[in-house]
Amino acid sequence: MAVPVPSRQLFIAGEWREPLLEKRIPIINPATEEIVGDMAAATAEDVDMAVDAARTAFFRNEGKDWSSASGAYRAKFLRAISDMVYINLMIIIVKIQSSSAIFFFLDLLLLPISMQILERKSLLAKLETIDTGKPLDEAISDMESCASCFKYYAELAEALDLKQKITVSIQQQSFKTHVLKEPIGVVALITPWNYPLLMATWKVAPALAAGCTAILKPSELASVTCLELAEICRQVDLPSGVLNVVTGLGSAAGAPMSTHRHVDKIAFTGSTATGIKVMTAAAQLIKPVSLELGGKSPILVFEDADLDTAAEWTIFGCFFTNGQICSATSRLLVHESIAAEFLEKLVDWSKNIKISDPMEEGCRLGAIISEGQYEKIMSFISTAKSEGATILYGGARPQHLKKGFFIEPTIITDVSTSMSIWREEIFGPVLCVKTFTTENEAIELANDTDYGLGAAVISKDLERCERFTKAVQSGIVWINCSQPCFNEAPWGGNKRSGIGRELGEWGLENYLSIKQVTHYTSEKPLGWYSAPRKQ
Ligand code: NAD
Repeated sequence: MAVPVPSRQLFIAGEWREPLLEKRIPIINPATEEIVGDMAAATAEDVDMAVDAARTAFFRNEGKDWSSASGAYRAKFLRAISDMVYINLMIIIVKIQSSSAIFFFLDLLLLPISMQILERKSLLAKLETIDTGKPLDEAISDMESCASCFKYYAELAEALDLKQKITVSIQQQSFKTHVLKEPIGVVALITPWNYPLLMATWKVAPALAAGCTAILKPSELASVTCLELAEICRQVDLPSGVLNVVTGLGSAAGAPMSTHRHVDKIAFTGSTATGIKVMTAAAQLIKPVSLELGGKSPILVFEDADLDTAAEWTIFGCFFTNGQICSATSRLLVHESIAAEFLEKLVDWSKNIKISDPMEEGCRLGAIISEGQYEKIMSFISTAKSEGATILYGGARPQHLKKGFFIEPTIITDVSTSMSIWREEIFGPVLCVKTFTTENEAIELANDTDYGLGAAVISKDLERCERFTKAVQSGIVWINCSQPCFNEAPWGGNKRSGIGRELGEWGLENYLSIKQVTHYTSEKPLGWYSAPRKQ
């Protein structure tokens, strides 16, 4: 059954508001190429209003400001948001408990209530699939990750109450010093299209947990579920202005945030090219930035690896979400002695990937996000061909799909290290292969990149894996796997892959600033000017 995409405006100060200009951006389902709705195109004036709302919520008003409320208070909202995203009855139980008559019928009510929420969970996932073209199973898993991430940061918000004041031990007896961890202020959160709600959650949850107020600017290519997050915030009565969601083009709605005097920090996820623009603009006001950017991550397969297991991780590491993952391990380095056999296995695995309408059961490869991105990937493939690379598998539109931006999983060999297909982030289902003969050569090839996000190694020799872990210049290392990601563990890269880390306690620190507080405790005067200092 077709799921209608809700028509939404901008979410500012706790309510839906028309943008100042009446411009709309079409929402296109990449699997069908149909326009399924539209979104508001915000401009600098709308951003100003959203920043004002966030600033008011940060500082407001009869002691009810978000920034100085307890972590426990903020955690209640994060949990409520999580419950609305996921199947959880807590919010309903809380509401029912306030009315004892209804509470009596709780058991009777549980079944229909849980069914309603299940529906909502799959509704969000379906909207994500319609908006991005990713398989529904992936979208469901994304929604589960969003819900658990909100819950995780609810716990960290509560723990923050105990850690907000840290005593520092100093030598000078007449002074006492402590350090306060405070919310950094109003934060602008700018996110990409590949995991629309999840990338937003990785920022919104820790920012709100820390006591910041926020303006979220999702990608103009996929904003639907971020707007639904706004609706969820409205439904759980999140205080107005704590989270504002402003949709629109990067140049019109994103750029004004980087230069806004009242935005205290920018947290950006997107391409390295845009990250440079954001950082350059923010530098004018010495505005702190954290950047989660692109990647070109290697996966090394050694001769002692179990080839079937290695093949599945290699395929998963590059073709999951159509290769549209910043950390996709898209450069395969395989030991020469096993290369022929391993490549055969990769081709077999690729043939078994179900490419279909992403709503279809069992789909494992959906559509590319947009026509522009489809053309970009195809042009990388044709340039590689013209430069002498071999398309071992794929490289074209699947013949059975006449509409939609679909590309076969693609494996390319005979690649040289100077080719753009080897050096640049393609952000599509394209795996490039090179062979190596020694461990040192493999490490050198792995590090020969401007990026430094993820790196995977597949080998039974754990000492070798340890050596690789130390030698590789990346923010994340996977041993005998590729891509797993956890709320508790830091995520982010080195070199042109970014600055800072998301998730875990590191994700929370992104939104906290440090204040030193020193107290003169002696009753004696300082005496610096009254008597000369003894030599
Ligand atoms: P993008 O850089 O085109 O856009 C990202 C966001 O920036 C969008 O919301 C866009 O509207 C906005 N934007 C564009 N121009 C802007 C400007 N001048 N000022 C402020 N904002 C502006 O990236 P994309 O195509 O949406 O996403 C794909 C990229 O994201 C890939 O490079 C991928 O590697 C990266 N990514 C990185 C991570 C990570 O964790 N490192 C995660 C997901 C995606």
